[in-house]
Amino acid sequence: MKLTPAQVKNLMRRGLRFLVDPEPEREDKKRVRDFFNDSCAYCGKRLESKDGDIDHLVSAALGGANALANRILSCKPCNAEEKRDRDWIEFLKEKCDSHTTFQERESRIRQWIEMNGGHPRLNPDISALLDKESERTTDEYDAACTRIRKQKRANKSVSLGDKKRESERLTMPQGQESGARAVEYGLQTARKIAERLGGLKIGKTRSNEYEINNRKVVIKCAKLKTDSVGVAYQMLDRIAAILGSFEIENGTYDIYELASDVYRANMKPTRSTGPAAGNVGIVKKTVFIDRGRFLMNLRTD
Ligand SMILES: [Zn+2]
Repeated sequence: MKLTPAQVKNLMRRGLRFLVDPEPEREDKKRVRDFFNDSCAYCGKRLESKDGDIDHLVSAALGGANALANRILSCKPCNAEEKRDRDWIEFLKEKCDSHTTFQERESRIRQWIEMNGGHPRLNPDISALLDKESERTTDEYDAACTRIRKQKRANKSVSLGDKKRESERLTMPQGQESGARAVEYGLQTARKIAERLGGLKIGKTRSNEYEINNRKVVIKCAKLKTDSVGVAYQMLDRIAAILGSFEIENGTYDIYELASDVYRANMKPTRSTGPAAGNVGIVKKTVFIDRGRFLMNLRTD
C-alpha cells in the first residue's frame, strides 16, 4: 500500500473518529434501505438491491456524524455528483417537483432522524476533542517526518561526498526567483478570478483562499503549459474544494471545481526539493476534467 503523508494523516483522524462515531453495521444499513423503501430519499428513484449509497445527510465537512441519524438512502447521482457538501433541505427542494412531495420526503427524513436519536451532527464537545487530538497526533507525525527526511538528506549528501552541491541546491537563487514570480502570478490571477466569482478573501494575505457561496475554497491557477496545480496538505484540511483554473489557448481560464477529498485521493507528492517538499500535493489537470465539475470559462484581463 502506497500512502502519501496526507493520506496517512487522514487515516489517523479516521482512526480516532471511529472510537466515538463508528460506521453503521451491515444490518443497520439494511434498516436504512427498508425505511426508505429502496428509494432515493432525495429524488425518489427506485433502487435495485445493490444500487445506491448509505449517504451522509449532513456531510462530514459540515460536522455530520457516521451514525444512523445522519444516514439515508440515496441514488448515486444525488449522493456523489449533485449534493456533495450542500445543505440537505436546499438540495431536497431542488429534487422535488412539488411542495407536497418536498414535505413528504422531508418529514420521512426527519422521522428517521428522530427514530435514531435525533442528532445528525456529532456532539460539539466530542467533535472539539477529536479535532484537538487529531491535530496533536498529526502534528507529531509531521514533526517525525521532518526529522526523518532531514536525517535522510544528511545521510545522502555525506554518502555522495558532495556537501557543497547539496548546499548550493538548497539555496537555489534562480529557483527562488522564478518561484517568487510564480507565487506572484498565482496571487494576482486568483484575485481576479475570485472577483468575478464574488469571492471573499479569507486566510493569510498570500494564501489564495476565498469564501465563495459560504464555502471555503482555494483558487489555484496554471499557465497554458502547466498541466497541474499544487496545494499544501495543511490547506486541504480547512477547505471544501479546489478551484483549478487552467489557462487555455486564447488566454482565458477554464475553471473546474474539485472537492478536497477527491483532490487528496488523486494527488502525488511534489517533486520540488525546496520548501514545498513533503508539504504539497500535486494534481493533474486531467483529474479536474475527469472527476471535477466544470464551473465556467473566464477572462482575467
Ligand atoms: Zn436520487
